[in-house]
Amino acid sequence: MAQLAGLTAFVTGGSRGIGRAIAAALTQAGARVTIAGRSADSLSAALTAGEAAEASDVDVTQPGALTRVIGERRWDILVNNAGGATGGSFERQDRGAFEDMLAQHALAPAEAMRAVLPGMKARGFGRIVNIASTAGLHGFAGVSSYVTAKHALVGLTRAVASETARTGVTVNAVCPGYTETEMLRAGMAQRAARSGADAETVFAAFAASQPLGRLVRPEEVAAAVVWLCGRDSGAVTGQAIVIDAEAGS
Ligand code: NDP
Repeated sequence: MAQLAGLTAFVTGGSRGIGRAIAAALTQAGARVTIAGRSADSLSAALTAGEAAEASDVDVTQPGALTRVIGERRWDILVNNAGGATGGSFERQDRGAFEDMLAQHALAPAEAMRAVLPGMKARGFGRIVNIASTAGLHGFAGVSSYVTAKHALVGLTRAVASETARTGVTVNAVCPGYTETEMLRAGMAQRAARSGADAETVFAAFAASQPLGRLVRPEEVAAAVVWLCGRDSGAVTGQAIVIDAEAGS
């Protein structure tokens, strides 16, 4: 029997990048996967590719939106992954930047967890995985609002895991280092444009400078998520698992 056969999963930001790889891997492992995102085109591309069974068109930062789409249905697995990063020195990051990052990376995951937890606890089984970042564990320069929000997500994960440890529900964070996605390529292209350099050269040099000597692949993040969601992973909760050679500093 497939590892996750018979389980249902809700993956925010499952239409692109890391989230899409997670949705595909959960589907491959036998789960029935629903993906959520804002772009209907991206969602339907993932459905057409067979990487998910259903899609919800939702902006996770709108208060109440996740509660509505998650609804009263049975969810065995929740992966909070949606969102992006805002860059710039601390002095350039205003209150709005912090509110935006916290809405994406802390308030939305908290709302989704609040929506799925009663059912998971009642059934005595649940797997929640929050996609944080090495920026949730270390204070990288130039992304203070993102670092703040990802630290909040790691703290939230640990706190909820403490409350659910005896219920059959696990709550963990996965913390990837720089991972090869559209979001990262777009950021590198902007950096190259600012300095007038060739985008591919900048991208290759950046990848080579990473702890692994390369970027993390979305599939490598997804493999960790699938393992955390397994029926045999019930003794692992409240962890922040780094997917990289080191967390950096
Ligand atoms: P992508 O930009 O490639 O994908 C982001 C996904 O989230 C898309 O499906 C996007 O769909 C969705 N999304 C973004 N904002 C919202 C929103 N407000 N409501 C609903 N869906 C939304 O990003 P990545 O795959 O790179 O990143 C995914 C997660 O991994 C993020 O939490 C990121 O912080 C984290 N991460 C990424 C790393 C990296 O190097 N790439 C490293 C460490 C962590 P749509 O735009 O259509 O809504």
